[in-house]
Amino acid sequence: MAKCKHVEVLIVGGGLAGLTAGIHLSQHGFEVLLIEKYAYPHHKVCGEYVSNEVLPYLNGLGVDPIKEGAKNISLFEISNTKGELLSTKLPLGGFGISRYHLDNILYQKLLETAAVEIATVSGVCFLNEIFEVQTQHGNEYTADFVLGAYGKRSNLDIQWKRDFVQKPSQWLGVKAHYDFNMPEDIVALHNFNGGYCGLSQTETGAVNACYLTTYAAFKKHKNIEVFQKEVLCENPHLKHFFNNANLLFDAPLTISQVSFSKKETVMNHVIMLGDTAGLIHPLCGNGMAMAIHSAKLFSEIFITSKKTGQSRQAIEARYTSNWQASFSGRLQTGTLIQKMLLKPMATQVGFSIAKIIPGILPRLIKQTHGTLLV
Ligand SMILES: Cc1cc2nc3c(=O)[nH]c(=O)nc-3n(C[C@H](O)[C@H](O)[C@H](O)COP(=O)(O)OP(=O)(O)OC[C@H]3O[C@@H](n4cnc5c(N)ncnc54)[C@H](O)[C@@H]3O)c2cc1C
Repeated sequence: MAKCKHVEVLIVGGGLAGLTAGIHLSQHGFEVLLIEKYAYPHHKVCGEYVSNEVLPYLNGLGVDPIKEGAKNISLFEISNTKGELLSTKLPLGGFGISRYHLDNILYQKLLETAAVEIATVSGVCFLNEIFEVQTQHGNEYTADFVLGAYGKRSNLDIQWKRDFVQKPSQWLGVKAHYDFNMPEDIVALHNFNGGYCGLSQTETGAVNACYLTTYAAFKKHKNIEVFQKEVLCENPHLKHFFNNANLLFDAPLTISQVSFSKKETVMNHVIMLGDTAGLIHPLCGNGMAMAIHSAKLFSEIFITSKKTGQSRQAIEARYTSNWQASFSGRLQTGTLIQKMLLKPMATQVGFSIAKIIPGILPRLIKQTHGTLLV
């Protein structure tokens, strides 16, 4: 039977951004309902390398990924399509953990202080200062605030005719876990024609292989297996990996239409968090940290605004300007690096420069990352 309940904050989507905002706000006494499409735990297409910048903040929320088995990662290596390798110490470092585990840890933490419903949100509308939210199961809610934390692309984006869904997107993501012997303190990024593939260990010791490629590169090949064999394996590091690794999934997971276009941070008064507000190129290994950071940005603004009685408009404006200040620079640098990596000549020049000036690689990494969040 349909029910209609009122909550202070309703969060659409329970990935890292939604779960973190839910924990932060509910720990500060706000009544939160988070609605997520899929039951936990579930796998997601993601490189599963998280920057350490979010560790102190997660610890402050009572979440400790390292205690939960995440692997400490301190080294980065990158190869070009020919297999030439550069390596460097990561300025801040990071950790390797599967989304299957990380999202589930946050979900369990959220259940201590807030309600979660597993359902797809099918409609959100704002009328007379109140949101009305429906799920596909027919449940209805009203809320004072709605946070959109539903990821890269969703039914709601199509309903709202967001600009980025009008434009075709050329990107495809593929991910799977493998049994493979690789040092646990390294995250590797190997280039191939038309994309790049990240390798790093997760909490189980399995190696996550996740790559992003263009349709143009992929469509000439019959399927994932042929594509990996004929294109990824041109890079000797990837050849060694795919020839020696045992697939631990029934089949790799895929996502399509990954868009890096500019997105709105607030739309129809819904506050957008994480990838819903903007996605950084995955080669930066910073999307998860940004998702968590955006949750922190909003939660802090919201908590202060409730104490000082600020208007909805003031909250929206402050979130938008803080989001831009925190993330615009990283997004721009990420776009530049991605463009370069997909051009073999430019990559070659970049590699030659980085060999002469080794400090350039950590400097670039710093520009796509933030500082420690406390
Ligand atoms: C190929 C690839 C590799 C990547 N590698 C890395 C990496 O190594 N390191 C890194 O930091 N970042 C990486 N990223 C980026 C990272 O995955 C994202 O930035 C991060 O997942 C964003 O989290 P989020 O909470 O915004 O979205 P998500 O984790 O996507 O969560 C959104 C949630 O919303 C739910 N949802 C969607 N629609 C609805 C609806 N209508 N109703 C209810 N629920 C809904 C979804 O089921 C999902 O659980 C990678 C991205 C790609 C594409």
